[in-house]
Amino acid sequence: MNSFTVWLNFHGDLSFFVGSKRSIERNLGEKTSVKDVIESCGVPHPEVDLILVNGRPVRFEHSLECSAEIDVFPVQKQSPQFKENRLQIYSFNRFIADGHLGKLARNLRLLGFDVAYDRQAQDRQLLQVMASENRALLTRDRRLLMHSVVRHGYCPRSQDADEQTMEVIRRFDLFDSIAPFTRCLRCNAPLEKVAKADVMEKLEPLTRIYYDEFRRCTGCGQIYWAGSHFSKLQKRLEQLRANSRG
Ligand SMILES: [Zn+2]
Repeated sequence: MNSFTVWLNFHGDLSFFVGSKRSIERNLGEKTSVKDVIESCGVPHPEVDLILVNGRPVRFEHSLECSAEIDVFPVQKQSPQFKENRLQIYSFNRFIADGHLGKLARNLRLLGFDVAYDRQAQDRQLLQVMASENRALLTRDRRLLMHSVVRHGYCPRSQDADEQTMEVIRRFDLFDSIAPFTRCLRCNAPLEKVAKADVMEKLEPLTRIYYDEFRRCTGCGQIYWAGSHFSKLQKRLEQLRANSRG
């Protein structure tokens, strides 16, 4: 088989992975799946929502056998074209975060989302829990995100946990599912309402005075009330909601 050349154009915020040079040329000596060629450029498949080969939409398995122009698009809900050829799920609400994303995991739990997180987890464990519990993988490790068993996932662009939180909310369409104060920050189990009298003896004096509503973790027993941190985050979310819906 003669070698051939493909030209890849990366659109939208996929520039995060390929840098300012959005067009990449690849010489291939054998049949290669379009997914492998895209990932060889540093773009993990869960970030790719639409692939056009010479203007025609294809799946990840599509085999490249001759010269072609390839356009690669990120998740962009606003684009009306090729709706039925999209490769990603937009709405998803079960996650697993890698060991470096502890603050992001905590933020998402604070907003009520189900996020498995173990600071010590090795890659193999992460992938295993992800697959068996059908979770989307959150990681800034591109190699990990490229693993073939990953179906849904996202690489937070920002290094700041609060911005990462907003990114994940946008990417997975979580605005309407936000339910603060419903999940344990420590162990991810759901919280239940509990009478003040039942937790009175475990509270600090000021907490006893200023707060009347309490919840208890059904997993580890931790007690929660709506303190100042929570109201700060709530304010920021209201702002973001307003911005994103314009
Ligand atoms: Zn707990």
